[in-house]
Amino acid sequence: MAASELHFLLVPLVAQGHIIPMVDLARLIAARGPRVTVLTTPVNAARNRPAVEGAARAGLRVDLAELPFPGPRFGLPEGLENADQMVDQTLYVKFFQAIWGIAEPLEEYVRALPRRPDCLIADSCNPWTADVCASLGIPRLVMHCPSAYFLLAVHNLAKHGVYDRVGADDMEEFEVPDFPVPAVGNTATFRGFFQWPGVEKEQRDVLDAEATADGLLVNTFRGIEGVFVDAYATALGRRTWAVGPTCASSFDDADAKAGRGNRADVDAGHIVSWLDARPPASVLYISFGSIAKLPAKQVAELARGLEASGRPFVWAIKEAKADAAVQALLDDEGFEERVKDRGLLVRGWAPQVTILSHPAVGGFLTHCGWNATLEAISHGVPALTWPNFADQFCSERLLVDVLGVGVRSGVKLPVMNVPAEAEGVQITSGDVEKVVAELMDDGPEGAARRSRAKKLAAEASAAMEEGGSSYTDLEDMICYASELSRTRSHECGWSTSSTSLLSAAAELGVGSKSGAKKMEADAALSVQS
Ligand code: UDP
Repeated sequence: MAASELHFLLVPLVAQGHIIPMVDLARLIAARGPRVTVLTTPVNAARNRPAVEGAARAGLRVDLAELPFPGPRFGLPEGLENADQMVDQTLYVKFFQAIWGIAEPLEEYVRALPRRPDCLIADSCNPWTADVCASLGIPRLVMHCPSAYFLLAVHNLAKHGVYDRVGADDMEEFEVPDFPVPAVGNTATFRGFFQWPGVEKEQRDVLDAEATADGLLVNTFRGIEGVFVDAYATALGRRTWAVGPTCASSFDDADAKAGRGNRADVDAGHIVSWLDARPPASVLYISFGSIAKLPAKQVAELARGLEASGRPFVWAIKEAKADAAVQALLDDEGFEERVKDRGLLVRGWAPQVTILSHPAVGGFLTHCGWNATLEAISHGVPALTWPNFADQFCSERLLVDVLGVGVRSGVKLPVMNVPAEAEGVQITSGDVEKVVAELMDDGPEGAARRSRAKKLAAEASAAMEEGGSSYTDLEDMICYASELSRTRSHECGWSTSSTSLLSAAAELGVGSKSGAKKMEADAALSVQS
């Protein structure tokens, strides 16, 4: 089938760290010819509409479709549709039950379409799409939003029985078995998604849906994670494409960058002018992503450390939106006033990629969410690593131990494991001052780190350019999906305008005849497996 005849349906998890890269992926796929629909809920559609409209203005065939979020049916307040709106952590089980509840409306939606989509790409945390695709005969790919390092580590720890051996002891130290690099830690810092009491069924569903997927996409690139991607593909026995860093899709579009994932709580132009007035690589940018929130006492230590560091900084401090103690620190206790000559506070959502792409930014104090990690790498900005939970400790290991572009803040535990008497404080103001100085250091170590970061940024960019590894993987994925769609429609008697894989490959300008033949053979194998 010609690439322009293909229709991809993308189903992201309703969390910022998952929707944003999925919308990026939609742009990337559409840039190769296919039409792409991102299916999400009304609150999330509204947040991402400017990005999608921007893509449409650029001539890309990307659109949004909405399904209602069944939260209230599961006891969630009306309008709570994204993980970043969760103030009460005990609601997480209900949140995931509600997400699973989208399966039925999804099936009705697809059945009502005039033509079956050629491929559905579901976030790995949306395994409930598997039955829908199976019953409708739609090829299904799974998109992973964390690093391949994390995926492989968690897989190997489970496979080799390490989690079973250590049981409930979160802190028992182990080495990850059969891993390409030395990696030591404990369950607290190597916990997989859905590895919590109360979501056992959801965890099984995630593993089953991945094991039966027609292929896997990972938002990474071979230059930093090739060895982990290949080992994971082998371990799962699934065809796997490394298609990132997907954030590169919006680098040429100032509006898309500034409004990525949500409307910023500050004028992007104001931040850019502020940064324009600062010397190159002098500013530290601080953000803990969309979900992690520092306890007020820890915010106070960080604030004092930043003040003492004497460095200019931009701080995305979303805690200031709802935490009265943090508001008092900034306003009544005069922090914002004291640092106003060199500190810019964004009280809420910051235009992160706009900030990171500015030459004045020379360091990123990050919670090590995988998107933040890729955004730092893509812009050649060294990281000060401050992981909070989930895969973030793995991103820290990759940045510091494997890639050599990070400095550890010294955080040892996920926020929930910090003993109550510490009141959430793991890093004192003195620690902050010291590690900020180390990261922004002008000496030989800092210079070497900056030079490694710049080299990785060049590799990330090359991976996404024509002929680069991620570019080629994405095209290969599209050809593969096209062939699978043709085969499935044959088997299931769906109507499709499918012609042949060879024309998709030809239109994409990739597959030589022999390459396309190989894809045909691979597709046939996958259909049998
Ligand atoms: N982000 C942003 N502005 C903010 C906070 C986050 O644009 O103020 C974006 C960030 O660029 C990234 C995503 O939100 O693309 C967060 O994903 P990540 O994996 O870094 O962390 P998570 O929020 O999932 O913990």
